[in-house]
Amino acid sequence: MQNLGPHTISQSESDCDVVVVNSCTVTNGADSSVRGYISSLKRKNPNARVILAGCGAYQKGEELLKQKKVFGIIGHSKKESIADFISTKESFVELGDFDHIDETIVQDFIGKSRAFIKIQEGCDFECSYCIIPKVRGASRSHKEATILEQIDILAHNGFGEFILTGTNVGSYGKGTDTSLARLLKKISLIRGVRRVRIGSMEPSQIDSEFLELLDEPWMAKHLHIALQHTSDTMLERMKRNNRFAGDQKLFELIASRGYALGTDFIVAHPGESDALWQEALQRVEALPLTHIHAFTYSKRDGTESALMRDSVHGDTAKSRHRELTALIKDKNYRFRKEHSKNLEVLIEQSDRGFYRGYDQYYNNVEVLTKRDIANSWVSLEDVEVKDEKNYSKI
Ligand code: SF4
Repeated sequence: MQNLGPHTISQSESDCDVVVVNSCTVTNGADSSVRGYISSLKRKNPNARVILAGCGAYQKGEELLKQKKVFGIIGHSKKESIADFISTKESFVELGDFDHIDETIVQDFIGKSRAFIKIQEGCDFECSYCIIPKVRGASRSHKEATILEQIDILAHNGFGEFILTGTNVGSYGKGTDTSLARLLKKISLIRGVRRVRIGSMEPSQIDSEFLELLDEPWMAKHLHIALQHTSDTMLERMKRNNRFAGDQKLFELIASRGYALGTDFIVAHPGESDALWQEALQRVEALPLTHIHAFTYSKRDGTESALMRDSVHGDTAKSRHRELTALIKDKNYRFRKEHSKNLEVLIEQSDRGFYRGYDQYYNNVEVLTKRDIANSWVSLEDVEVKDEKNYSKI
């Protein structure tokens, strides 16, 4: 929003002059959703100029421009100049370059209690199912001074929890003389920083320097480490560089230090036979996992996996997805039963007298109170653990 210049944001697509669609292209389905949304815009507001931004701009932008479905397309590196593109009356294609780093300092997150800090862009991995390196470029880090300045401003503006984000956060500092661990230590020294979360890391990025930080009080006691699968045959197929034995050792070590652990898991990638699935599920059970982002594999043209023939039937994929999420739901419940005391919750929103927030383990807590506790920290000695989430009354 800092980059909007004289332009203002409308609450509805129907009454604005320009609609900027920040698109995703992670699956073929995402492309279809973007196309569908753009067609719906044309019906709602035929006179609006549509600018397609984000990853979808690289994959489908020119085609949509030729079909006159969009007015202009911009790549990630051009988003900082969005004010100029909004004013432009001539159609344009500005995909920019992949070396660029956005230097915008975000000073506020309106309506949010947690601040999201982008520290890195791009990815150097080559997972067979993933288009991201092609639309985001190679890994590059934001300048340390800019990150620290941004956090300092936001902490001064009342933010206490910071979430470090990026395409591949764990590669922060790669090729330079810094690292994620060193950045974290510097962030922790900023007055007002109370809790730091890390968006997602790869197992191979967790080094001894990072492990030394696990007991720091400002580290959120939850890490999201992307495994994507627990069968080595599947991991090899997916061109991942993690393997189950190492992942299990790492997870057990981190869990033994009191952490909740989440992961990404792709269900039903081509080649996932019944036997491999059963093996994977047993291994998930053996891991100290508490959270999961389970994705059903979806084909993405332009990737190696899209050419693989041994796909998994849709009904099988759905039932495996259900099995996996039910298993993690149960593991999360068991973890919450064991971690129901001394919870530090940053309250985010209120809904009919209930306030919601996340504790240090990234578990959702609903608090019933007559006080106004929005955007504040509450310490809960004990909570009632129910099926879906934790509850408390203060
Ligand atoms: S590490 Fe993540 S972003 Fe990078 S290629 Fe693999 S899945 Fe894609």
